[in-house]
Amino acid sequence: FNIKIDDLELQDELGRGAYGSVRKAKHRSTGVVMAIKEIRLELDKTKLSGIAMELDILHRAVKPQIVEFYGAFFVEGCIFYCMEFMDAGSLDKLYSPTFGVPEKILAFVTRNLIIGLQFLKDELQIIHRDVKPTNVLVNRRGKVKICDFGVSGQLEKSLAKTNIGCQSYMAPERIQSPDSGVHASFYTVSSDVWSLGLTMVECARGEYPYSFSNVLAQLQEIVKGPPPSLPSNYSDTAKDFIHSTLRKDPNARPQYQELLDHPFLTYDEEPDVLKWIEDALRAKHGEWQRYQRSIRLRAVFSD
Ligand code: ADP
Repeated sequence: FNIKIDDLELQDELGRGAYGSVRKAKHRSTGVVMAIKEIRLELDKTKLSGIAMELDILHRAVKPQIVEFYGAFFVEGCIFYCMEFMDAGSLDKLYSPTFGVPEKILAFVTRNLIIGLQFLKDELQIIHRDVKPTNVLVNRRGKVKICDFGVSGQLEKSLAKTNIGCQSYMAPERIQSPDSGVHASFYTVSSDVWSLGLTMVECARGEYPYSFSNVLAQLQEIVKGPPPSLPSNYSDTAKDFIHSTLRKDPNARPQYQELLDHPFLTYDEEPDVLKWIEDALRAKHGEWQRYQRSIRLRAVFSD
């Protein structure tokens, strides 16, 4: 569909990223509920229409493991990117250091992610370039989908300048390179495999596995230190899988098909994903409420 700002009834904010905010919205005439990402770019008209053309390929990225793209429009230098609303939010909202993602669910999530990434690569020749927990979305029907992949060179070029994140999912070979800009032509699919492995370790542990007090030390650790691993209570099969994705040598990392054929992902019995989602949302909500209560108590005592 062809969406315009006046067609939308904007609702709550769903989250904020490095470049702007994401809001829930309802498309008035069809009633479709969507998520709208607003990115402020301050680019001229030609550049914006270039980006619009590049984003068009997203209409071909139709797959159950990929967040559906509904369309994009521009208002005063801002891009409004409209996509499928995922009502359980991003993966990072479903774990914490006290409840990591259990092994069987981790396998399920990983499998879906790889199917999505493999489709992008094989069918559309797209390398994701930004695999991380906040770019994996979940809905309460148990679907796990990826979003935010690098389809528009122009858009990424405009964003890269401001991109200094405090948690890096970049593969070691990308950090070491003097030309580690988003556009480096050597960016290969194996760098995405690293980011995928790191994302999975984060889900299992419930937190980003490198220390993030100092960005430079963190990058050094990614390049020079041993790769992170799964907690000890995960099976050897799971550890072997993750270990292979986090090899320092990009050429030694497996391809998507090899990963899909790994015993970690060739399970017979589907785990109870719906139960996990409800439990995880409730646990996270409980933690949030306890946190709010402790703030209120602290305020009372300091009075
Ligand atoms: P990030 O850099 O963290 O990925 P984004 O701007 O892409 O930032 O998104 C911010 C947050 O908005 C995400 O972490 C996620 O929780 C939420 N979000 C993004 N897209 C959707 C969507 N389609 N449905 C529901 N929530 C979303």
